[in-house]
Amino acid sequence: MKSFDVAIDGPSGAGKSSLARRCAAELGFLYVDTGAIYRTVGLAALRRGVDRKNEKAVAGILPELDIRMGYADGEQRMFLNGEDVSREIRLPEISMCASDVSAHAAVRDFLMEMQRKLARENCVIMDGRDIGTVVLPDAKLKIYLTASPEARAERRMKELQAKGLEQPFEEVLADIIQRDEQDMNREVAPLRQAEDAVLVDTTDIGFDESFELLCGIIRQRLEAEA
Ligand code: C5P
Repeated sequence: MKSFDVAIDGPSGAGKSSLARRCAAELGFLYVDTGAIYRTVGLAALRRGVDRKNEKAVAGILPELDIRMGYADGEQRMFLNGEDVSREIRLPEISMCASDVSAHAAVRDFLMEMQRKLARENCVIMDGRDIGTVVLPDAKLKIYLTASPEARAERRMKELQAKGLEQPFEEVLADIIQRDEQDMNREVAPLRQAEDAVLVDTTDIGFDESFELLCGIIRQRLEAEA
């Protein structure tokens, strides 16, 4: 297959990661979760106690960070200076840390090449906030995946529960709304639907139906390109 990349963007909790991971496994793509990369920088900033809203302070720690991605049993793992932080970056408090540091151009520039290199070397399904608009503007297929804030909070809460982490619905919803606000209104690479992206709204459909819908869209585009 010639190079074919799929860019999936959308707000937090829209189901991007779980849907993209399953579609990638089904269709033989490499799945790249770029949120995990930003989460790793967010975790590093939290651990070092830097002011995450201060671009200079955050930029100051970047040269000390060796961020790598790997795959074990088909799962993406994140390594920070050699340490496997894949679990820790999923803690709820890291979400806002990631959102804070991701607003800085210095951080986005630092992580850009890593993401583009993965797409150059593999056929990827890459999810994030700016994949179709900034990272892979020439992706063969762009999808903007969204759902209402309430539906997303409901799903996020269940995901957390499955990991043994309890958080009240109102708190999860408030976090989602705050992150949407921050991710959509930042100056650099704000979250928005690319002009040529296909809009998929999963508010009223379950996971399996969303998966079939998404896979169908990808297959159709693959066939058109073949
Ligand atoms: O997707 P996830 O919720 O793990 O992403 C965590 C945060 O990382 C997002 O809220 C967003 O601020 C940031 N992010 C980004 N650009 C991406 C992926 C994630 O700014 N491509």
